[in-house]
Amino acid sequence: MDRESLKRHLEFYRDLGIRQLNIPASALPAASQVSGPVSTAPRSAAPTDRTPPPARMASVPVQPAPPRPAAIMTPSLLPVAPSGDTLEKISDEIGDCRRCRLCEQRNKIVFGSGNPQAKLVFVGEGPGADEDATGLPFVGRAGQLLTQMIDGTAAKEGLAIRRTDVYICNVVKCRPPENRTPLPDEMEICGQFLFRQLLAIQPKAICVLGGTAAKALLGTRDGITKLRGNWQNWRDIPVMPTYHPSFLLRPYSQNAKRESWEDLKKVLHHVYD
Ligand code: URA
Repeated sequence: MDRESLKRHLEFYRDLGIRQLNIPASALPAASQVSGPVSTAPRSAAPTDRTPPPARMASVPVQPAPPRPAAIMTPSLLPVAPSGDTLEKISDEIGDCRRCRLCEQRNKIVFGSGNPQAKLVFVGEGPGADEDATGLPFVGRAGQLLTQMIDGTAAKEGLAIRRTDVYICNVVKCRPPENRTPLPDEMEICGQFLFRQLLAIQPKAICVLGGTAAKALLGTRDGITKLRGNWQNWRDIPVMPTYHPSFLLRPYSQNAKRESWEDLKKVLHHVYD
């Protein structure tokens, strides 16, 4: 990577709020060329990161970003992703990720699946047990419901669309222990890859499933009950928030199910009419 590209990469991560990157020393052109001090000292241990750094990792502090507003993320202010970004490159860059504590208990990284040129992307919260075991998103009970919702609604609405035509991924790529909600720092670290996936795919619309995905993408503190059914926007891509399928699996969720089906109809017609 040349100096200019490296600088753009570092600025990209800095503006996402990332303060430090761990990069193989061999990947750096020369310490003096990095825009910021480069040290080859072991990275400072995060409270829950007990994994020793791999040999010959350079710890690259990213220049502090200007203060950001209180919102969780400021997606509309993000700089452009590395040019020529592809899902394959993003997946390669994630590698055997050890950037946050979620790596400690995961079995498989769940990157995403579906059509890389999809017109519609669904974003969930994070893998559960079945996804962690298979490396594929939404394959457990909630996933089966999502499949039924996509295939069933499309068929009912006369649209020749199946789950395999869309792309499905999550905010965090590793299963949080006990399926807890991902923590803000985990969402911020992994969110950079979600944003790049979305920018690489450039779908016509995004459907965020549940409050966590809505928060990660829209930087809002509003709950999903308030947001659902109303178009939002992420980098000029329309975003439809709706309930998470796990929520719909709970008893007494008949109303929410009906609303979700309405939301999905809106999205499918917007994208495929
Ligand atoms: N729930 C999610 O948010 N994502 C999955 O992949 C599975 C369940």
